[in-house]
Amino acid sequence: MYIGRIREILILSSDHLKVEHVALQCFSFTETLHPSLHLPCLDLTNNEVFLSAAISYHCLPSRLHILWVSSCRILCSVNIQHNCIDSGCTNTGQQPVYQEQTLTSRSRCIVQHKPTPHYILNAYSIHNYDYIRLVTPDTLHKTPLRVTNVAEVQALAVWQMREK
Ligand SMILES: [Zn+2]
Repeated sequence: MYIGRIREILILSSDHLKVEHVALQCFSFTETLHPSLHLPCLDLTNNEVFLSAAISYHCLPSRLHILWVSSCRILCSVNIQHNCIDSGCTNTGQQPVYQEQTLTSRSRCIVQHKPTPHYILNAYSIHNYDYIRLVTPDTLHKTPLRVTNVAEVQALAVWQMREK
């Protein structure tokens, strides 16, 4: 099981509704969690995998290393964000936000992403959490405890509840 980015979807010429192959560009996990976000980091590799409905082991000429696999399926989508922190991506301006084709008073930043292969996996996504946990290496499952004094936090929470 792995995480990949869909590069190409090939359909049958005779049946435009039937997918024949899906080409994925694979991600690899880095060895450690991101030091400040405490999330798994992924690097986009040059390995491509073709998912096929039929068993096939033909190699295609390409500058990329290509693997053929048989009878695989795409299980789910995952949330991956570009690692802007370490890549040095910058905000280049503001863009107005529309809601139902009406201009709002809000705006959002426009980010100019640097072309780096570094990404961060949202390992705490509610959707597909089980699959995300399965694909993530065991060494990256540790969740750093950010509360240094648990008893103090619990006592404060109890006191705040009693004060209400
Ligand atoms: Zn970025």
